[in-house]
Amino acid sequence: MRVFAREKIRKTNSLSAKSLHEFSTKAIHVGEEPDLSNSGDVTIPIHMSSTFARKEVTKPSKGYEYSRTSNPTRDALEKRLAAIEDAKFALAFSSGLAAETVLILSLLKKGDHVIAFDDLYGGSRRLFNKVLEKFGLEFTYVDARETKNVEKSIKKNTRMIWIETPTNPLMKICDIRAISKIAKRHRMLTVVDNTFASPYFQKPLKLGADISLHSTTKYINGHADSIGGAIMLNDKEIYELLKFHQNAIGAVSSPFNDFLVIRGIETLALRMERHEKNAKAVAEFLESHRKVKKVYYSGLKSHPQHKLAKRQMSGFSGMISFEIKRGLKEAKRFLESVKLFSLAESLGGVESLIEHPALMTHASIPKNEREKIGISDELMRISVGIEDIDDIIADLRQALNKV
Ligand SMILES: *Cc1c(COP(=O)(O)O)cnc(C)c1O
Repeated sequence: MRVFAREKIRKTNSLSAKSLHEFSTKAIHVGEEPDLSNSGDVTIPIHMSSTFARKEVTKPSKGYEYSRTSNPTRDALEKRLAAIEDAKFALAFSSGLAAETVLILSLLKKGDHVIAFDDLYGGSRRLFNKVLEKFGLEFTYVDARETKNVEKSIKKNTRMIWIETPTNPLMKICDIRAISKIAKRHRMLTVVDNTFASPYFQKPLKLGADISLHSTTKYINGHADSIGGAIMLNDKEIYELLKFHQNAIGAVSSPFNDFLVIRGIETLALRMERHEKNAKAVAEFLESHRKVKKVYYSGLKSHPQHKLAKRQMSGFSGMISFEIKRGLKEAKRFLESVKLFSLAESLGGVESLIEHPALMTHASIPKNEREKIGISDELMRISVGIEDIDDIIADLRQALNKV
């Protein structure tokens, strides 16, 4: 069927140009050419080989030499990742943090300064402060919801602005277009961690950012069964620099995981639609519940940056944070009472997860820092899965009843 569809697309020129522009079509077809001179698989095979044979001493027969440098399964994934983000290039890594490390080590040097959003993924802050600072890099954290806070922090040695939007866990939004414009004016690079929105709902490169970065572990793979990272970009020079470092550092993804991520991407559009639909219903349920103090979800009209979120994203994704009214002890009771939800870190998979940022994902941030940015002891974060919405809400309701 798929081969037939592809043949048809190739034969009808007008259809070809248009069809392969649409998200779902690219998510299913790009990077996967059935090799009809071989077995004709319609899905990309898992090429586990670490090395590749050649006929001539100085020339790899099919361009492949050694799998750290490049691998056919990873190539297919990278093509597809670029396609779904409307980017020219993509690179796949063994984790989101590996992608971050390679990105920074490739583009910055000792003495350079980075301005970062103060409400970042906990692991990114740990990487910056506990690992990269040792090598003479400098990081300043600002509340990037106000673009002027970014501008005010620019120093002579500032080379990069690192933002996340929506943020983890407080769902703060920053203006990608406005921040990228400032960065360009000062010859700095803008990096957007696009993990929470996924390429389906947000395209930072189109808003002027230089780099879009993902933990593919989350929505892109979407089934909580692989760890991976990705970088998407349009600039050829930067791409070549990153490609060199991807090989030189060696933090590459495995072909088996590449296969899983490719498979995940094929249903990304469907999953994101459902994640969002379920999340909206959950956010509204929580907001109307008397035991809930506050709900953080950019799709709610009560979210202070709802308008900006609506402007730069085509959907609000499936992550929600909320606070209950009665303190840490009751928050723990709630977390231990859910049944359908798993009490676990991570997010973006088909199954609903719940976690406690202050004690789990963001425990590595000192308490005073956490409180400064708004991560209280009553805050809980949920990754709304794609189960039946009635079951999801029933589970939250019964757990709230126990509080
Ligand atoms: C999980 C996550 C990361 C890190 O990715 P890993 O794949 O766990 O290394 C970075 N940013 C965000 C927003 C994340 O959620």
